[in-house]
Amino acid sequence: MRLVGIFGGTFNPIHFGHLRMAQELASILAMDEVKFILSANPPHKDNVMVSAEHRSAMVKLAIADNPLFSLDELELNREGPSYTIDTLVSLRESLGQDTSLCLMMGSDAFVNLNTWCRWQELLDYAHIVLVQRPSAQPQEAFPTEVKALLRDHYTDQHADLANENSGGIIMQSITGQDISATGVRGMFGRGESVRYLVHDEVGSYVQQHHLYRQ
Ligand code: ATP
Repeated sequence: MRLVGIFGGTFNPIHFGHLRMAQELASILAMDEVKFILSANPPHKDNVMVSAEHRSAMVKLAIADNPLFSLDELELNREGPSYTIDTLVSLRESLGQDTSLCLMMGSDAFVNLNTWCRWQELLDYAHIVLVQRPSAQPQEAFPTEVKALLRDHYTDQHADLANENSGGIIMQSITGQDISATGVRGMFGRGESVRYLVHDEVGSYVQQHHLYRQ
C-alpha cells in the first residue's frame, strides 16, 4: 500500500511550521509522498488577503527542493467553497484503493472538525494524522462529537495506516514550532524580519509582490 500524506491549508503564507510538520510526519510514518492541497476558497477563513495564485506560487517555491513534496491544485480548479471531502473523493478516485490517504492536520483544525462539510464521511476516504500545535487547547476542549470520533477511530499503531487505506486516527508528536501564518503576516506588515520562520524564497516573493502590507 502506498502512503500518501494530504496536507490542506490556506498557506497564507506557507511557513516552517507547515514544512517541518509535513517532513516529520512523512519520515516518522514512512510516507511515499505528501501532497500540499491549497484551499482556494476556505469556508472557515474570512481573512484571506492574497490571491490563490500568489499563495500557490509561494508553496511551489517553498517545496521545490523536496522530492517528497508536491502541490496539488485540484481545489483551485473547482468553483465554490473548498471542501476537504470533495478533495478526498476525487483523490480516492484518481489514486485507487491501494493508496492509503493520510489527512494531516493540526489540533486547531481538528477541534472544529464537526463543522466541516460531511465530516462524518472523511474517515471513509482517509486516515487522520493529528499533531498538537504548541499553543493548542487540551483534548478536553474538543466538542463531544469530535471526542467521540477520536475515541472510536483512535489507534497508536502506525502499521494500521498501511494495513487499511482509511478509517484510523493517529496522534503523532512532532517538534513543536509555534509559528502561525497570522503571526508571519503581522511581521511582514510591520516590516520585521521573518528569516527562519519562512523559506527565504517565500520572503523574497512577498517583498517583490508587496504582499501583506498594512
Ligand atoms: P492562519 O494563522 O492564517 O490561521 P495557519 O498558520 O494556521 O494560518 P493554515 O494554512 O491555516 O496555517 O494551516 C494548515 C494546516 O497546518 C492546519 O491543519 C494547521 O493546524 C497546520 N499548522 C499550521 N501551522 C502549524 C504549526 N506551526 N505546527 C503544526 N501544525 C501547523
